[in-house]
Amino acid sequence: MTFLNPKYQHLVSYVPGEQPKQTTIIKLNTNENPYPPAPGVAAAVQAAAQQLAKYSDADCLQVRLPLAERFDVTIDEVFIGNGSDEVLSLAFQAFMAKGVAFPTITYGFYQVFADMYQVEARVVPLNVDLTLDLDLYRSLTQTIVIANPNAPTGLTLSASALEELVKEDLERLVIIDEAYVDFGGESMVAYTKQYANLLVIGTFSKSRQLAGARLGYAVGDPSLIADLNRLKFAVNPYNVNSLTLAAGAAALADERYFHTQIEKVIQVREWTKHKLTSMGFQVTDSAANFVFIAHPQVSAKVILEKLKADGIYVRWFDHPLIDHYLRVTIGTSAQMDRFVQSVQQILKEAVR
Ligand code: PMP
Repeated sequence: MTFLNPKYQHLVSYVPGEQPKQTTIIKLNTNENPYPPAPGVAAAVQAAAQQLAKYSDADCLQVRLPLAERFDVTIDEVFIGNGSDEVLSLAFQAFMAKGVAFPTITYGFYQVFADMYQVEARVVPLNVDLTLDLDLYRSLTQTIVIANPNAPTGLTLSASALEELVKEDLERLVIIDEAYVDFGGESMVAYTKQYANLLVIGTFSKSRQLAGARLGYAVGDPSLIADLNRLKFAVNPYNVNSLTLAAGAAALADERYFHTQIEKVIQVREWTKHKLTSMGFQVTDSAANFVFIAHPQVSAKVILEKLKADGIYVRWFDHPLIDHYLRVTIGTSAQMDRFVQSVQQILKEAVR
């Protein structure tokens, strides 16, 4: 006996990375930022807690205004969501009447949303070196979703190459997921003024240390934003809670902290790439806050398990095209030092 609507019977849900309870574990498995939120965030949240008896602001102005200012757009060009997963979810509900196209290897949630909303998905192959060939998208009529930088490869496309795709067919919507853009990608936000068929989605989870607060956004033409709001106000008007709005506003107010922490992540990422390359790993040229690595002699699964036994969690994906790879989030330099030492030991034992 089941009460579940038969249309969900075969739905395969998204599987998030493990969130272990032990604080001693070095967590390099979910692309979180290793640093705490900006110093002003805790006090802002505490002050907002005094007002928890009231509903949060359904218009999210506390975050929408400064974000619009930062992106040099108007507030009716900005949508705020409960993490960018919610923004993507609403976009899949709203904009996929002609189907959706995305790469074979990309953020796993796109396929889940397509299944959830019963949207036909055209999955477009990557090149063998994991780069993305935009020519394969040119003639498509479906809404196109591209993560830039892509996940889990970390590889980027230039804004001008993506602009070519956007302007080729103004009747076709292109959605760019910029979850990792602050770590080295080129943002398309500025192009949204020019193209009403471009929606850019971003998050406070990675570069603003607020993964646990759940705060994401979309920037695009006012008509796209109005459509997202139409759906949001039909499901959950108070989608972002007041503690999170306060946290987001405080994070946005501290641009210096934002830039300093990003620089640290980038510096440690480049150090980590260098170390891993010299240990024989294939390392993609990631512009994100993670590296994507494969060793020619030792299987990814072996390294994954041995790292885990050593208290270091990284991410492996059960997909035939990338099952020899591991995705490793960039932690602090002390954490990455430990990671590199542990991998060195694992390789020594495995290839002896
Ligand atoms: N897009 C991509 C490419 C991601 O990797 C993630 C993080 N898992 C998200 C969106 C969602 O992030 P959040 O919901 O935390 O904003």
